[in-house]
Amino acid sequence: MDKVITRFPPSPTGYLHVGGARTAVFNWLYARHMKGQFILRIEDTDTKRSTQESVDAIFEALEWLGIDWDEGPYFQSKRFHIYREYIQKLLDSGQAYYCTCSPEKVEDMRKKGMAASGKPKYDGTCREKNLSKTDNAVIRFKAQVNGTTVLEDVIKGNIVFQNQELDDFIIARSDGTPTYNFVVVVDDITMGINTVIRGDDHVMNTPKQIMLYKALGSQLPTFGHVPMVLGKDRTRLSKRHGAMSVTAYRDMGYLPDAFLNYLVRLGWSYGDQEFFTRNELIEKFTLENIGRSPGVFDQDKLLALNADHIKAKPPNKLVKHLLPFLKERDYEIQDSAFLESVIETLNKRSKTLVEMADAASFYFEDTIIYEEKAVKKFLKTSSLEPLKLLIKQLEALEQFNEANLENAFKTVMESTGLKLGKIAQPVRAALTGKTASPGIFEIIEVLGKDRVISRLKKAVKFIEDNAKD
Ligand code: GLU
Repeated sequence: MDKVITRFPPSPTGYLHVGGARTAVFNWLYARHMKGQFILRIEDTDTKRSTQESVDAIFEALEWLGIDWDEGPYFQSKRFHIYREYIQKLLDSGQAYYCTCSPEKVEDMRKKGMAASGKPKYDGTCREKNLSKTDNAVIRFKAQVNGTTVLEDVIKGNIVFQNQELDDFIIARSDGTPTYNFVVVVDDITMGINTVIRGDDHVMNTPKQIMLYKALGSQLPTFGHVPMVLGKDRTRLSKRHGAMSVTAYRDMGYLPDAFLNYLVRLGWSYGDQEFFTRNELIEKFTLENIGRSPGVFDQDKLLALNADHIKAKPPNKLVKHLLPFLKERDYEIQDSAFLESVIETLNKRSKTLVEMADAASFYFEDTIIYEEKAVKKFLKTSSLEPLKLLIKQLEALEQFNEANLENAFKTVMESTGLKLGKIAQPVRAALTGKTASPGIFEIIEVLGKDRVISRLKKAVKFIEDNAKD
């Protein structure tokens, strides 16, 4: 088989949303799996609705998802000379013609067609007239009138269209600009695309496109139309179902690998496996396993999968993902080894990077703000003795490691007769300001001697100044 060449051709009329991103991912994965090529094409012929902002947003989202392209980005707006050439080819071979029917006349025909057969069709008035170009003339494709056009879809199976139901559609408007179905086909032919995976909202365009391929003497690509993504209420996914842009998920603290994994599972399966690394997806992704029923977007599942990916990723690989969230909170990070050890204490308990950054705050803040609950429960007079004793023990330690710390706590337990928990809770409140945190020894080790002792001393002072019990 020839080298697989796939493409992702977004229209830059908004941000990249879940459905579009899934299409991109499927095409990219398939190209990577088959050691083929993946091409990015920006379909910006609709100049009124296309914006540079959307183009940038699409690049940003693809980059975040880690989707790289081998060719492009091509911009349709820069390819009009090619489309013109192909329109001429069809005119020269008698497979397209000028039509001077007024829009009102065409509208009338469409109404009549609708009434007669339920199909709003152009009736072919100019088809055999051999008209020449005039100011108001459009160019129509001479479509097959009889027989059928069969879409052999690798996902949906064969879909048969009656040619009678199609009409001579416009391929160039009177101002010379080519129409959507035409440019897609010319691009796919000239870019050597042999595999087209896209949303099934494009099924109805495909018979027209197949006819164009045939008229241009080109081989058909493999088509696969993926069912739409639905919301939990089984209606088409829309803004109502939550944040829709891919980058919004980045900003909510999702890992690109987790989001990618979830997107793929919205329409592709491999037994009942849910968790896939990027490499595993590349290794296992085939078109046969794309399902025929719509994927249902479930934020809770995505969240659970994100937690799994955060857990599974080595802390040194999480650093670059967490950093933007820490910077946003104005924390200064000089030492990535320190950050790695911070992550090691939090990666089992954070569902998102936002949660992780919030939970990490006490590692970076100079002044610990005590939660009211922590003050009430643990920063009280009865905690003074164990805290003071612990400070003494810790000051004497050369090295902060688990064994040393355990010993220090043991000594305090023995001399106060208190259980570990009774000592650990005020220590936690002193070090983090909170009542819940990662394990106390872990925190102490990561914070290091200076910070720990200074925070414990501050807590002692706080209790002495404030405690009323
Ligand atoms: N530009 C089209 C879209 O964004 C895609 C066309 C295609 O895949 O053929 O829906």
